[in-house]
Amino acid sequence: MLKAVFIDIDDTLLDFAKCAEYSMRKSFDDFCLDFDKTMFPVFEKINTEYWHRLEKGEITKSELYGKRWVTVLGKFGISHIDGNEFEKHFQGHIRESSEKVDGAEGLLIYLSGKYKIYAVSNGPHEQQIYRLEKSNLLQYFTDIFTSEKLGFQKPDKAFFDACFSRTGGIKNNETVIIGDSLNADILGGINCGIQTVWFNKNNITAKEFHPDFTVNSLNEIKNIL
Ligand SMILES: [Mg+2]
Repeated sequence: MLKAVFIDIDDTLLDFAKCAEYSMRKSFDDFCLDFDKTMFPVFEKINTEYWHRLEKGEITKSELYGKRWVTVLGKFGISHIDGNEFEKHFQGHIRESSEKVDGAEGLLIYLSGKYKIYAVSNGPHEQQIYRLEKSNLLQYFTDIFTSEKLGFQKPDKAFFDACFSRTGGIKNNETVIIGDSLNADILGGINCGIQTVWFNKNNITAKEFHPDFTVNSLNEIKNIL
């Protein structure tokens, strides 16, 4: 019997792309740089590559934060701005951004009536709590599990073992994970034997992974759980 739902935050509940584009634009303003819309996809591609390397254990979180803007600014030929300084501004703006994914609050209202809900995120702890509160979503959670607090990250089984040591006896086979990332959420769920719901919002094909359920919108999850 299902008792608990683990749910990812970025690009599952909060729209990271919208938040990041807003933050990139604001940071460009801070440094008096000209921003245009074609620049955001460059960040998105590089940022996604760094996150995949983090999920594979090839780099650490501090290397990700230390390098991504150095790489992005380098691509634009901007050499007079320190990438680490830019990262600080970007993080500050991300903290203030909390655009929700369509259906996020409705889903949490529905799920919280039936199950305990835990956030599972590889993002920074205080920042994620602040953003959930700002978007009015924090109230639906029993607890917030982040890699920063647990010392392990998705998809590592140790991350989920640490979660289950804090869920008051709820077991793997009584839990489902919902997330957008195949490498972090779905692989993580498979690694530790919990059911998986893949939020495939871009409707991509992924033959190498086998989630228990795949949805294209958050609203569809109400028909499954
Ligand atoms: Mg995500």
